[in-house]
Amino acid sequence: TATIVWLREDLRLADQPAFAAAAREGGVIPVYVLDDETPRHRRIGSAQRWWLHHSLASLDADLRKRGSRLILRRGVAADVLADLVAETGAERVHALRHYAPWWRNAERALGGKVDLVLHDGVCLLPPGEVRTGAGDLYKIFTPFWRALRDRMPPAASIPAPERLTVAEAWPASDTLEDWALLPARPDWAGGFNVWTPGETGALERLEAFLPNVAAYDATRNLPSEEGVSYLSPHLHFGEISVAEVWRRAAARPGAEPFLRELAWRDYAQNVILARPDYGKANGLPAFDPFPWRDIADPDVAADFRAWCRGETGYPIVDAGMRELWATGWMHNRVRMIAASFLVKHLLIDWREGERWFWDTLVDADYGSNSVNWQWTAGTGIDANMFVRIMAPLTQSEKFGAADYIRRWVPELSDLGDAVIHDPDDHDARPAAYPEKRIGHRAARERALAALSTIR
Ligand code: FAD
Repeated sequence: TATIVWLREDLRLADQPAFAAAAREGGVIPVYVLDDETPRHRRIGSAQRWWLHHSLASLDADLRKRGSRLILRRGVAADVLADLVAETGAERVHALRHYAPWWRNAERALGGKVDLVLHDGVCLLPPGEVRTGAGDLYKIFTPFWRALRDRMPPAASIPAPERLTVAEAWPASDTLEDWALLPARPDWAGGFNVWTPGETGALERLEAFLPNVAAYDATRNLPSEEGVSYLSPHLHFGEISVAEVWRRAAARPGAEPFLRELAWRDYAQNVILARPDYGKANGLPAFDPFPWRDIADPDVAADFRAWCRGETGYPIVDAGMRELWATGWMHNRVRMIAASFLVKHLLIDWREGERWFWDTLVDADYGSNSVNWQWTAGTGIDANMFVRIMAPLTQSEKFGAADYIRRWVPELSDLGDAVIHDPDDHDARPAAYPEKRIGHRAARERALAALSTIR
């Protein structure tokens, strides 16, 4: 008999309960469905298509070492899988449970057609399980974190199956090349060579980071240093289980600040479980009438374009946006500064920024992206208040971003630490570097005036 394992953002063999359960049952057929067709299913962004290509290739290679292979199909996930069950005579489909609204819809649709068994394994604790004394989901992160921490550590890891029984006959599969996930020329993904998608690459990242776990608290806000784990795309695609990351980190002294950040990922999944439309609806409806500048207006569109390209005249913002374009990733402190700049300095709706990040981040995640955008914008259920307007130039100095700026903004690479954060203010701006789109004080006044209209 055959059993299907339906893979999504859980592209690994170790600590993967769907594989473990299927391996106990018989011939395992691992399937990945590229779903660009289900209505309201968010199409995977361009940067993640690059990642996905390499991650699927890596998983296929790992499966082949075990006598198996990855079957690739394309279409509406629930229909494709139901057809595959009929075609192969599979008795069951095993999968991990996911929380983006389109995945929950697909699970419901498929569950109505075949015997679908869903397993937990995407988060530290299954979203929906961590609740307040009154039985509600937590709205605020800190009490959520405390409640989660009290229930850690996660249970022991499930080893990767050593061998996966070969299906009697392999169903037909697309090839990765058929899917054309890699960018067409000119290849913007040149800077992506810092990444090694796949389970082996994920484990290497974790190993490289673990000796620094105790220093994380001191270095995590410094974009010029390599003080963070760079695990986010691996975690998004499930190439390593977050429980395994927790166990390995927690075995070292001083791990708590890092574990707390891991919990933000869980928290975000809880938020989208409670509010599936969090990627488009303000957490605080009071912000619905907020007078964002109209992106259809050419001046506003030009501001948005300058932000996307890293040409705002604010070195820290521009360095971040260029790092994002070059590598598909941006340092967390700089994400906060760049996002806040878009929303409060340029007064552009956070949803525009969320969408740009969705297309350009290799770690783009519906939960983490919308929760963090709404946190930064001040529109979220747990958020930094809108009136707190981050001063990008002060932040840049405070978090020692000079080397980071020199690295990502070559026009400024000759400037010294004293002037690089705000070259305009020191009469040190090279002609090749743009002027500020708007001064900090003017932006602040405009933002507060806009806020006063909804109060
Ligand atoms: P580390 O600091 O090493 O943290 C370890 C892991 O903890 C991360 O890999 C991530 O899985 C999790 N984590 C840490 N901080 C957060 C956080 N604030 N929210 C959720 N999870 C967190 N993260 C994404 O994974 N996907 C996104 O789409 C995303 N969009 C963001 C948008 C904005 C505007 C902001 C401010 C932050 C966003 N983040 C997002 C959160 C954070 O910036 C990244 O998770 C982090 O920078 C990834 O780098 P790292 O793996 O080295 O993180």
